[in-house]
Amino acid sequence: MIKQQNNRRLLVLDDENDVAATICMMAEIAGYQTEHTDNIEVFIEQLLVWSPTHVVVDLQLAKIDGIEVIHRLVELDCKAAVIVISGLGGRILDSASRAAAENGLTLLGTLSKPFSRDSLLDLLTIDTSSRILPHQESSFLHSGLSISGDELANALQKKAFIAHFQPKISCRKSELMGFECLARWPHQSGVMIPPVDFIGIAEQSGLIHQLTRQVYEYALANLTDFAQTDTKLKFALNLSPVNLNDETFPTWLLDKCREYNVSPSQIILEVTETASMDSPLKLLEHLTQFRIRGFHLSIDDFGVGYSSLVQLARLPFSELKIDQMFTKTLTTSDESRKIVAAVVSLGKSMGLNVVAEGVENEWALNFLCDIGCDEAQGYFIARPMDKITALNWKWARRNDV
Ligand code: C2E
Ligand code: CA
Ligand code: CA
Repeated sequence: MIKQQNNRRLLVLDDENDVAATICMMAEIAGYQTEHTDNIEVFIEQLLVWSPTHVVVDLQLAKIDGIEVIHRLVELDCKAAVIVISGLGGRILDSASRAAAENGLTLLGTLSKPFSRDSLLDLLTIDTSSRILPHQESSFLHSGLSISGDELANALQKKAFIAHFQPKISCRKSELMGFECLARWPHQSGVMIPPVDFIGIAEQSGLIHQLTRQVYEYALANLTDFAQTDTKLKFALNLSPVNLNDETFPTWLLDKCREYNVSPSQIILEVTETASMDSPLKLLEHLTQFRIRGFHLSIDDFGVGYSSLVQLARLPFSELKIDQMFTKTLTTSDESRKIVAAVVSLGKSMGLNVVAEGVENEWALNFLCDIGCDEAQGYFIARPMDKITALNWKWARRNDV
């Protein structure tokens, strides 16, 4: 049964009159008030006067193209949820919708003509008030503080750096598989500074070695609390490519694992942008050294930047992590769905554990399960949490199952 959507107003801009009328008819069944036009000036006027909550924009109009319409919507600071439709095929539709999102519009989704009643209703029944819309967060969150190398050095001295924990679950059984440990800096101002604000500075200033050790030690010291009853849980830690230049690091890590009674087989080291290493041979040797010591290795952000097929083929990875750029757009992009399905199949054929991060809704999780992805991580399951919150989350979940 379709839920009544109060106060939802849908404005359609399409010069195929029958298509526009059909959309309006279906939307009315879903409880919307509707209007449609084939004229951009009327559309703009309606936008200003009627304040629709949703707009549907066709990419191909007689006098104006969809990109120009998107620009007009941006100029008018349009807050309505936008659905882009077209008969031009998936790639063009994808690019246009990406342009809408990257221009700051709230993109609800895309529809390829001819579309089914269900695919339109799926979009129209999305709860836009609570949902994290795809594309809305295109990059990691910043704290807004600007941080100097001296401040960083000071904070390291005070052992200020900690980790937050974000769960990973199996797609098939929703079983808790482990946590990714993500660096955090609780600043004296009360702000929790995220890693994007300090990892780069730490890498440039050479403080990354100390920082990594501090975050790792915090995580390792707390792992027993998570793994007490669950010794098969695995914990992922991020490794900067700069860390790989430090030859003492593999032994340091092994010693710390012994000190905190953690088996290296419980640790997954996530590595990104490995092409920035000076020497490919050194990289190969360092990564192999971690594997020899029993650690797992994950190629992070697969599909973007330097995490390429060459890296995958020649380096000893045991896991592949699909970049969230693809996962976050699964609901809206046919191309993302194809890429993710191909990458899952590639990873599986190479005997790797395949993880998708950036899972923000149930639809994406079900899709990943259907295509045989092993694990999922993302806001739909849980956000990164401080240790106590994460332990409570784990406890509450266990009691739920
Ligand atoms: P990453 O390794 O790709 O980690 C995942 C990031 O995506 C985390 O951001 C996490 O909070 C965020 N995330 C997880 N699920 C979702 C989701 O469903 N939607 C969205 N929009 N975001 C999601 P965070 O914690 O801000 O970390 C950002 C990056 O900083 C990490 O990306 C990683 O590259 C780096 N980083 C974090 N901790 C460390 C560390 O200890 N050492 C190094 N070298 N880098 C670290
Ligand atoms: Ca990671
Ligand atoms: Ca990533």
